[in-house]
Amino acid sequence: MDDCIFCKIIKGEIPSKKFYEDELMIIIEDISPKAEKHYLAIPKKHYKLFTDMTEEDGINLGKCIRKIGELAPSLGLENGFRFVINQGDDAEQTVFHLHMHLLGGQKLTSCDFRKNAKKQ
Ligand code: 5GP
Ligand code: ZN
Repeated sequence: MDDCIFCKIIKGEIPSKKFYEDELMIIIEDISPKAEKHYLAIPKKHYKLFTDMTEEDGINLGKCIRKIGELAPSLGLENGFRFVINQGDDAEQTVFHLHMHLLGGQKLTSCDFRKNAKKQ
Protein backbone atom coordinates (compact mmCIF):
# COMPACT_ATOMS: atom_id res chain seq x y z
CA MET A 1 0.00 0.00 0.00
CA ASP A 2 1.54 3.24 -1.17
CA ASP A 3 0.32 5.47 1.66
CA CYS A 4 0.95 3.04 4.53
CA ILE A 5 3.67 3.97 7.05
CA PHE A 6 4.42 0.34 7.91
CA CYS A 7 4.68 -0.72 4.25
CA LYS A 8 7.18 2.12 3.80
CA ILE A 9 9.14 0.97 6.88
CA ILE A 10 9.17 -2.62 5.52
CA LYS A 11 10.49 -1.34 2.16
CA GLY A 12 13.14 0.75 3.95
CA GLU A 13 11.66 4.03 2.70
CA ILE A 14 11.14 5.25 6.28
CA PRO A 15 13.91 4.56 8.81
CA SER A 16 13.24 2.42 11.87
CA LYS A 17 15.18 0.70 14.62
CA LYS A 18 14.93 -2.88 13.42
CA PHE A 19 15.57 -5.84 15.71
CA TYR A 20 14.53 -8.72 13.49
CA GLU A 21 13.49 -9.48 9.93
CA ASP A 22 12.54 -12.61 8.03
CA GLU A 23 10.39 -13.32 4.97
CA LEU A 24 7.15 -12.86 6.94
CA MET A 25 7.69 -10.00 9.41
CA ILE A 26 9.86 -7.30 10.87
CA ILE A 27 10.23 -6.35 14.54
CA ILE A 28 11.00 -2.69 15.21
CA GLU A 29 11.01 -0.34 18.17
CA ASP A 30 7.82 1.70 18.57
CA ILE A 31 8.55 5.36 17.88
CA SER A 32 6.56 6.37 20.97
CA PRO A 33 7.23 3.64 23.56
CA LYS A 34 4.56 2.93 26.21
CA ALA A 35 6.82 0.65 28.28
CA GLU A 36 10.56 0.17 28.91
CA LYS A 37 10.52 -2.21 25.97
CA HIS A 38 7.93 -1.59 23.27
CA TYR A 39 8.27 -3.38 19.97
CA LEU A 40 6.03 -3.65 16.94
CA ALA A 41 5.98 -7.00 15.17
CA ILE A 42 4.65 -6.24 11.70
CA PRO A 43 3.69 -8.92 9.17
CA LYS A 44 5.07 -7.91 5.76
CA LYS A 45 1.72 -8.42 4.06
CA HIS A 46 -0.57 -5.40 4.24
CA TYR A 47 -4.03 -5.96 5.73
CA LYS A 48 -5.89 -4.09 8.44
CA LEU A 49 -8.05 -6.50 10.41
CA PHE A 50 -8.37 -10.16 11.33
CA THR A 51 -11.48 -10.17 9.16
CA ASP A 52 -9.34 -9.19 6.16
CA MET A 53 -7.07 -12.21 6.55
CA THR A 54 -6.94 -15.15 4.17
CA GLU A 55 -6.37 -18.64 5.54
CA GLU A 56 -2.73 -18.38 4.44
CA ASP A 57 -2.38 -15.03 6.26
CA GLY A 58 -3.65 -16.77 9.39
CA ILE A 59 -1.09 -19.56 9.06
CA ASN A 60 1.67 -17.00 8.52
CA LEU A 61 0.53 -14.93 11.52
CA GLY A 62 0.74 -18.09 13.62
CA LYS A 63 4.31 -18.61 12.41
CA CYS A 64 5.14 -15.00 13.36
CA ILE A 65 3.69 -15.46 16.85
CA ARG A 66 5.68 -18.63 17.36
CA LYS A 67 8.85 -16.79 16.26
CA ILE A 68 8.09 -13.92 18.67
CA GLY A 69 8.03 -16.45 21.53
CA GLU A 70 11.41 -17.76 20.42
CA LEU A 71 12.90 -14.26 20.16
CA ALA A 72 11.44 -12.86 23.40
CA PRO A 73 14.53 -13.45 25.59
CA SER A 74 16.82 -11.74 23.06
CA LEU A 75 14.47 -8.74 23.06
CA GLY A 76 14.73 -8.34 26.84
CA LEU A 77 11.26 -9.81 27.35
CA GLU A 78 12.36 -12.90 29.26
CA ASN A 79 10.19 -12.01 32.29
CA GLY A 80 7.07 -11.86 30.17
CA PHE A 81 5.36 -9.31 28.03
CA ARG A 82 1.97 -8.01 27.02
CA PHE A 83 0.86 -8.84 23.50
CA VAL A 84 -1.64 -6.38 22.04
CA ILE A 85 -3.32 -6.15 18.65
CA ASN A 86 -5.57 -3.11 18.30
CA GLN A 87 -8.43 -3.73 15.90
CA GLY A 88 -10.52 -0.87 14.56
CA ASP A 89 -11.99 2.30 16.02
CA ASP A 90 -12.97 1.16 19.53
CA ALA A 91 -9.42 -0.05 20.09
CA GLU A 92 -8.08 3.22 18.61
CA GLN A 93 -6.06 1.51 15.91
CA THR A 94 -4.04 4.29 14.30
CA VAL A 95 -1.99 2.45 11.67
CA PHE A 96 -4.17 0.34 9.41
CA HIS A 97 -1.66 -2.41 8.75
CA LEU A 98 -2.07 -5.26 11.23
CA HIS A 99 0.70 -5.27 13.82
CA MET A 100 1.42 -6.71 17.23
CA HIS A 101 2.59 -4.61 20.15
CA LEU A 102 5.06 -6.33 22.48
CA LEU A 103 5.28 -4.46 25.78
CA GLY A 104 7.57 -5.40 28.63
CA GLY A 105 10.91 -4.86 30.31
CA GLN A 106 9.01 -3.77 33.44
CA LYS A 107 5.97 -4.67 35.56
CA LEU A 108 2.93 -3.55 33.58
CA THR A 109 0.46 -2.32 36.16
CA SER A 110 -1.57 0.49 34.66
CA CYS A 111 -3.62 -0.51 31.64
CA ASP A 112 -7.24 -0.34 30.48
CA PHE A 113 -7.14 -4.10 30.25
CA ARG A 114 -6.83 -4.35 34.05
CA LYS A 115 -9.56 -1.86 34.90
CA ASN A 116 -13.10 -2.98 35.53
CA ALA A 117 -14.95 -0.70 33.13
CA LYS A 118 -18.39 -2.32 33.37
CA LYS A 119 -21.03 -0.10 34.90
CA GLN A 120 -22.35 -1.78 38.06
P1 5GP B 1 -1.90 1.28 16.85
O1 5GP B 1 -2.38 2.50 17.57
O2 5GP B 1 -2.34 1.29 15.40
O3 5GP B 1 -2.20 -0.01 17.54
O4 5GP B 1 -0.32 1.37 16.89
C1 5GP B 1 0.44 2.10 16.01
C2 5GP B 1 1.80 2.29 16.65
O5 5GP B 1 2.71 2.66 15.65
C3 5GP B 1 1.82 3.36 17.73
O6 5GP B 1 2.24 2.80 18.97
C4 5GP B 1 2.83 4.38 17.19
O7 5GP B 1 3.65 4.93 18.20
C5 5GP B 1 3.63 3.56 16.20
N1 5GP B 1 4.17 4.32 15.08
C6 5GP B 1 3.49 5.21 14.30
N2 5GP B 1 4.30 5.70 13.35
C7 5GP B 1 5.51 5.09 13.51
C8 5GP B 1 6.75 5.18 12.82
O8 5GP B 1 6.93 5.92 11.86
N3 5GP B 1 7.78 4.40 13.30
C9 5GP B 1 7.63 3.56 14.36
N4 5GP B 1 8.70 2.84 14.75
N5 5GP B 1 6.46 3.45 15.03
C10 5GP B 1 5.42 4.21 14.62
ZN1 ZN C 1 0.88 -1.50 4.98
